[in-house]
Amino acid sequence: MLKKFLTCFSLLFVLALASTAQAKPAELTGINAYDLDRETVRIEISYRDGRLDTSDVSSEFSAAGMKLDLDNALPGRVSRVSGIQIQSGAKSFIEKISVNETAKRHTSIRINFKSAVSSGDATIDFEPANRAEKKDARIIVDVKKSPARDERSTEDFSGNGRIIVLDPGHGGSDAGAIGPTGVTEKSVALAVSLKAQRLLDAAGYQVVMTRTTDVDVAAPGVPDSTELQARVDKAPPNAALFISVHCNAFSNGKANGMETYHAPTAVKGARLARLLNEELERLGGLSNRGVKAARFYVMTHSKCPASLIELGFITNPREEKLLASEDYQQKLAQAITNAVNRYFNQGGFD
Ligand SMILES: [Zn+2]
Repeated sequence: MLKKFLTCFSLLFVLALASTAQAKPAELTGINAYDLDRETVRIEISYRDGRLDTSDVSSEFSAAGMKLDLDNALPGRVSRVSGIQIQSGAKSFIEKISVNETAKRHTSIRINFKSAVSSGDATIDFEPANRAEKKDARIIVDVKKSPARDERSTEDFSGNGRIIVLDPGHGGSDAGAIGPTGVTEKSVALAVSLKAQRLLDAAGYQVVMTRTTDVDVAAPGVPDSTELQARVDKAPPNAALFISVHCNAFSNGKANGMETYHAPTAVKGARLARLLNEELERLGGLSNRGVKAARFYVMTHSKCPASLIELGFITNPREEKLLASEDYQQKLAQAITNAVNRYFNQGGFD
């Protein structure tokens, strides 16, 4: 009796602890898509450890597919190359499934369909783990198939799930450059990148952020190359572009203007840097210092086309004010988004 009481008591204690600490994240173990019947395709997303329910999962629909955002979840061993199965019957309806950790403990699953799907065509359910059947807990997405959509509607989703890595420069222990009234480079870079993330996401890209808060990506006090390599490493192997966002600084407060960079012999990187430069120039607020080649770490080590942009001089009082304004930050984010769209939709690069 006493023993039983103790057990109950300790169980309560554990439960109390669990509710105050952050819940253990769910870890994906596999995705399996198959035809449930002639009209319905089922996508089972299996996971272990944490528990997911309706409050952790949100869905979004666009012309080409659906996106599931999972809070407190990690991709685990599921990636484009492993852990995702589309059975042959479902292949006539599902174009592609991709998984990315888009922020810390936040995983996005994008399912591209060959036909248009709207929110009314899909249901999302949750199945607990079934030990007897040796099945992990699952999110079950059932989608009603609809007739193939015409060619033109694919243009609505120009991003087509491509992965864009945004790297807000500096962060945490490293403020970057600091303006005359105290505006920091790290805060401007982050604000602009987060705004660009929203715009790119809405345009159908998958955005991977090297950081989403004011932190060192590796750790405070590590050598620069370790910190920068940690940023490069955030890019999944199938990333399409890497864009690092910075502000310029100079001892003379009169120095001004924006500029964009690419690695010296990078043809695609140069094209990206040129498009970014053109779009930033279109904003009209700042002088254009041009497109330049340089051996910045994140550009020379990135496995995909990369560019580093200097949005303006934070040490210039007029530009500091501009860079700190929400309105101008939104315009900068739009300029980045326009450049990315042009990169993929003009000239046939991939
Ligand atoms: Zn910088």
